[in-house]
Amino acid sequence: MNLHIQSKLPSVGTTIFTIMSGLAAKLNAVNLGQGYPDYSMSPELVALVNEAMKSDFNQYVPMQGYMPLREALAEKIEFLYNASVNPDTQITITPGGTYAIYTALTTVLQPGDEVIVFQPCYDSYIPNVEINGAVAVLIDLKFPEYKIDWNEVRQKITPKTRMIMLNTPHNPSGSILMQDDIDQLRSIVKDSNIFILSDEVYEHLVFDDLPHQSMLRYPDLAERSFVCFSFGKTYHCTGWKLGYCITSPELTVEFRKVHQFNCFSCHSPSQVALSTFLKNKEAYLSLGAMMQKKRDYFIGLMQDTRFELLSSKGSYFICAKYNRISDEKDSDFAIRITKEYGVAVIPVSVFYKNQTDNNVIRFCFCKKEETLEKAVAGLRKI
Ligand code: PMP
Ligand code: GLN
Repeated sequence: MNLHIQSKLPSVGTTIFTIMSGLAAKLNAVNLGQGYPDYSMSPELVALVNEAMKSDFNQYVPMQGYMPLREALAEKIEFLYNASVNPDTQITITPGGTYAIYTALTTVLQPGDEVIVFQPCYDSYIPNVEINGAVAVLIDLKFPEYKIDWNEVRQKITPKTRMIMLNTPHNPSGSILMQDDIDQLRSIVKDSNIFILSDEVYEHLVFDDLPHQSMLRYPDLAERSFVCFSFGKTYHCTGWKLGYCITSPELTVEFRKVHQFNCFSCHSPSQVALSTFLKNKEAYLSLGAMMQKKRDYFIGLMQDTRFELLSSKGSYFICAKYNRISDEKDSDFAIRITKEYGVAVIPVSVFYKNQTDNNVIRFCFCKKEETLEKAVAGLRKI
């Protein structure tokens, strides 16, 4: 008998989020590492889920997702992005944004295909490309603004390029795509057979009155895009793991072929609740200002520390250089400050395949003011 298997992901270990949250819990440190809110979600939405359960919405909803939820999403997209999306043929509800991304990649990629991936990137992207036998063609975002160098994109495109992966607002840097990025992207993919995977889970967390540059705003980009979203980020409930993918009717048919034999259908009562709650525009329209206030509060508190904060235009995150403090590797530094100063953070090198280390760490600021105060009290001592 030979029970030995060949790993499909030989260079992958346990995710940094699991490691740092585990360490934070063990040491009772303030956790500004893994991205999740530490305040309560809307009681009204919780009540709606309870109501849905009590009203017997506890069996499978259709594989594509609960239709009234998909209809409410189509209305929202029309309102926000002036885009007409067919709820029947273009929206699929998924168990979270990560799953939507994985499913989209699996739908498209054949062994040997190339996918342009900008790093640093959310840690699931590269393994998700590689597990499909495809090759991640890596491009570093320009430090410290974390902007895309479109000339480099042009140079790295080959006949094998099948997809470009985008993420706006961006995890971990908090950078966002601007109009000139969209213009460059449009000119690059025009007349090509390149698909776009657009991770827009932080669509509402955009600051300083800037617009969210969704692919859905641009019909020529939308027709070749899989646009992935997460209710967890919009409604402060990351543990719900519920999201959706929007793409063309043709691509949706293929996306659902993969989805139906993996998850099949997602949690019913949450979908029923969200189909009602989505009508409340204020709940998502107010989100950017609410999170911007947290960003600004955190920036204010950090003034008298030795960290040098970088810019954050969106997401839950802001990065900081620590080279005035230490020249340690960022992963060593992150672990040491968790142990010695009681604050868990994420080292940004983990978001690079080759662990590029610019001596930068990521802070998550979607926390109660008192949590941010407690964390910065520790960071001031460094
Ligand atoms: N993409 C990015 C960039 C993220 O930060 C997250 C958050 N985990 C996700 C996707 C996935 O969200 P979900 O928890 O819904 O899978
Ligand atoms: N998106 C979150 C982050 O970047 C957490 C993701 C996870 O725990 N897998 O912190």
